[in-house]
Amino acid sequence: MEEAKQLFKKLKIYSLLDLALIVPSSYRDTSLSEVLEIGKSATLEAKVIESSVNNGKLRVNFILPRFNNRRLSSIFFRTTPYHYKLFEAGTSHVIQGRLEEYRGYLQISQPRSIKKVGMVTPKYKTVLKESEIRSLIERYISEKNLFSEGLDSKEVAALMQIHFPNKMEDVYENGSLKPEFISILKFVEAYNHLKKLRGKRVDFPALYALKGDTAPFVESLPFMLTSQQQQVIADIREDLARTDKAAKRMVVGDVGSGKTMVILASVMMALPYKSILMAPTSLLALQLYEEAGKYLPASVRVSLVIQGYDDGSYREADFIIGTHALLYKEDLPEAALVMVDEQHRFGTRQRQMLETLVSKEERKPHYIQFSATPIPRTQAMMESELLDVSLITTTPFEREVLTQTIGREDFPELMRHIKDEVSKNHQVLIIYPLVEESTEVPYQSLDESRGFWEERFENVYVTHGKDKLKEDVLLEFREKGDILLATTVVEVGISLPRLTLIVIVGAERLGLATLHQLRGRVGRNGLKSWCYLFSNTPQSDRLYKFCETTNGFDIAKLDLKFRDSGDIIDGTIQSGQRFKWLDMAEDEHVIEQAKIRLECIVS
Ligand code: ADP
Ligand code: MG
Repeated sequence: MEEAKQLFKKLKIYSLLDLALIVPSSYRDTSLSEVLEIGKSATLEAKVIESSVNNGKLRVNFILPRFNNRRLSSIFFRTTPYHYKLFEAGTSHVIQGRLEEYRGYLQISQPRSIKKVGMVTPKYKTVLKESEIRSLIERYISEKNLFSEGLDSKEVAALMQIHFPNKMEDVYENGSLKPEFISILKFVEAYNHLKKLRGKRVDFPALYALKGDTAPFVESLPFMLTSQQQQVIADIREDLARTDKAAKRMVVGDVGSGKTMVILASVMMALPYKSILMAPTSLLALQLYEEAGKYLPASVRVSLVIQGYDDGSYREADFIIGTHALLYKEDLPEAALVMVDEQHRFGTRQRQMLETLVSKEERKPHYIQFSATPIPRTQAMMESELLDVSLITTTPFEREVLTQTIGREDFPELMRHIKDEVSKNHQVLIIYPLVEESTEVPYQSLDESRGFWEERFENVYVTHGKDKLKEDVLLEFREKGDILLATTVVEVGISLPRLTLIVIVGAERLGLATLHQLRGRVGRNGLKSWCYLFSNTPQSDRLYKFCETTNGFDIAKLDLKFRDSGDIIDGTIQSGQRFKWLDMAEDEHVIEQAKIRLECIVS
């Protein structure tokens, strides 16, 4: 037992199904060949008619009784007297090896001598020794154990055949695993993963049931909420009305999908209790504060807490909006609802601190996170085992951002376009791959290029990720700037309403999720906008597809496809769980089936 545990640890596996999913990389088949196929492995009965030793090499001539006594010769290289004895004239053997033909003579070089005929033995490629992994499989993979994991008889039968086949035809078709087995493996993989996640979800009772009326807010809005906004608000209403379980929800919606309205509706529900919202930057917090003031009924007291600014009003406020500065306030009032905007922009440490802030006692506030990084639907389905997930896949109004790849030869045209936009009092953002010159990147850096732009344009602003004054530069640019030069790190969520043109230099180096985030910077106010992907290799299928795709959730799916086909990743997107059989881009229905099964098992 203890020994098995060690082996499981070495294999890094944690469940019976993890073990069952270690599929043999190949099989050794010792059933006798029915036909002689040159160039393939053959297993043949063979009788020695003569053998001779020359220079330490043993040469044996056989006849094949099952094939009209055809002759076959073999050479054994490293031999001992034991071999000479074994292959004495008149002895019979079953030999296995690659069958060759040389001038009409059959040959197998260095054949294996087979003791047990008619066996199919799985070969596993793991960190363990062959005998170790085989003993684990033999010990734990049984019909009884597989059934008790909740698999059905078809799935159990398939796994048993994969690990204990009687003949090759049971498992292989045209040299690879049968398609129906692959479908089953996909299912088992999804099911196993979901099952583990479900075990990890922990829930706590909520501080209060929140049932405030959203009507005063919704009815005073200058627009109708989209049906998806309404759906998410309904999801949250259900969450917040419970006390047995504090809400734990993630709302995922593309940039511009209108998540702020969902935040404000949730604040209404929480009344007369307090809500807290944490945003990743002061600018964003300020923007949210302004929106809250604009759209919430005047009776709702809203307070702002950012570094270097707080008027103490947060102690009495109904809705406190802040940055991580909130985490350092010791006299934060108790809040019934805690929200995090752009949650993916917070570091692990800050999230941990918020967790502590949120879980003072056994009862917890309702907790809702908002993310602007669309994830594939399949991933959302997986993650919904750990926390509830709502997706907003539509935006309130069509945004027109013409996306196009361009190369060096298009530069004069690009310059004309930039001048044109600037003359219309619009703004331009140019994203460079690096701050400083580097021999590894075949593009100009921010430092190398800034002179060029500053000579030709007024009001050129420059910032980058490590720039301490980044927020100030952005604020000033928003008011006075024409052209902003930056690196990718500037994908903060602040809106620049006059921004209508973005150029991404070296676009092929970036992941699609990042490109999409960057493109989301322009056209926020319905102004016609452009996104130019500048590349030395503009003929890229990946970039073309990106140009044609506007919905973030479709981009996320595209990204999966290209990633699976081995395309570059820039590491800025969370690398989701990797699966051996399951294709996260295509196998939505498999995950759905696995979820249904899990539901049946648990209830
Ligand atoms: P997100 O936070 O999801 O990126 P915002 O909440 O900032 O998006 O919304 C983007 C813009 O859309 C804002 O100007 C907002 O006022 C507007 N908006 C939100 N919901 C609607 C709606 N239902 N109809 C029209 N405009 C909307
Ligand atoms: Mg937002």
